[in-house]
Amino acid sequence: MDNLTQMHQFTLLFLFMLALSLALRIWLSWRQIRHIKVHRAQVPAAFADSISLDEHQRAADYTSTKTRFSRIPMVYDALLLLAWTLGGGLEWIDQLAQTYALSPIVTGIVVMLAYMLIAALLDLPISIYNTFVIEQRFGFNRTTPATFVTDMLKGAALALVLGVPLLYVILWLMQQMGSAWWLYTWAVLTAFSLVMMWIYPTWIAPLFNKFEPLEDGDTLKRITNLLERCGFSSNGVFVIDGSRRSSHGNAYFSGFGKNKRIVFFDTLLKMLDDDQLEAVLAHELGHFKKKHIIQGMLISFSTTFIGLAILAWLMQQAWFFQALGISTQSTYMALLLFMLVAPVFTFALSPLMSMFSRKNEFEADAFAAEQTNAGDLVSALVGLYRENASTLTPDPLYSAFYDSHPPAPVRIAHLNAQPQT
Ligand SMILES: [Zn+2]
Repeated sequence: MDNLTQMHQFTLLFLFMLALSLALRIWLSWRQIRHIKVHRAQVPAAFADSISLDEHQRAADYTSTKTRFSRIPMVYDALLLLAWTLGGGLEWIDQLAQTYALSPIVTGIVVMLAYMLIAALLDLPISIYNTFVIEQRFGFNRTTPATFVTDMLKGAALALVLGVPLLYVILWLMQQMGSAWWLYTWAVLTAFSLVMMWIYPTWIAPLFNKFEPLEDGDTLKRITNLLERCGFSSNGVFVIDGSRRSSHGNAYFSGFGKNKRIVFFDTLLKMLDDDQLEAVLAHELGHFKKKHIIQGMLISFSTTFIGLAILAWLMQQAWFFQALGISTQSTYMALLLFMLVAPVFTFALSPLMSMFSRKNEFEADAFAAEQTNAGDLVSALVGLYRENASTLTPDPLYSAFYDSHPPAPVRIAHLNAQPQT
């Protein structure tokens, strides 16, 4: 096959996959909205005592609204991707940058930064609408315009400080290390993400939220007790001011090794009593004990490895660039095109990742049921479903495709079936 045929074939394949994934996602969103509507009139039997009809319908309306709106960015992003590639957007930036006769690495950084800046600006209306219209309408939004803007500026500054040196190293490796560049790049990316995980809790997260150690008292005693029982070492239990941005509640761990922090959103502490809080924490500890965190890291490192191997091959193919609207072959453009286009092809893998994640959730729930009381976790989850207005009746196919957590009724039924301690 000559280059021209390959180029046309790849353009067609790209357009086909883009249209297919868009159609599939719109169809799934339609199923989700329809399923929720069908079940809107009645609270599912398992929740009849704990969730009122009003609360159930508020959750139905919130989920439907979000799902319906999500179609706009779906279509918008697909059109933007076409404009960047076949429409000549990236080609235009590239040609413009090349007129300045900078070194190839600096040109690469300029092109990528220009793309990221424009893409971030184009995405702004979507995130503004999400935060200040949808979340606002359902009473979840606590973000002020000032917080929104400072978050954005801090995020951009952080991306520059951390991203530009990393990009410089990657582009340098791509240029200098011959055919093995991708192995070196993989090693650098892996080391970078380990360092980021290490410094995130102490250096990065505090830029966005105020961290305060959980006050001494019964709650802390219960938590410390549980941590000791599970043989878990951390460097502190913290509360953050999640309420500054949203009334949704959450809890998480971050860091690894000895530099682990347990973090509760202040909003979660308000929602749950001590028994429930202990059960939720036991669930999170379950993710550690069952090695889900390590598994997640290994999956991400191997995906990067495979991705870079594919990129190393594509970079040599003239048709890869031409098929996506780029006339000059370069390392940075290969990298940028790959980052933009790969999700169109890997979209079909998302049900697999969701399935894996749901399996882990069941394991963490089982761990929590062993260490604490399954009934407390059930009541905590029901409380969270209520406060966060999560739908109790997702479409099974939609849920199988996207959801990292099992649908509420399935999860609760599983927990109720655990042997009681
Ligand atoms: Zn979990």
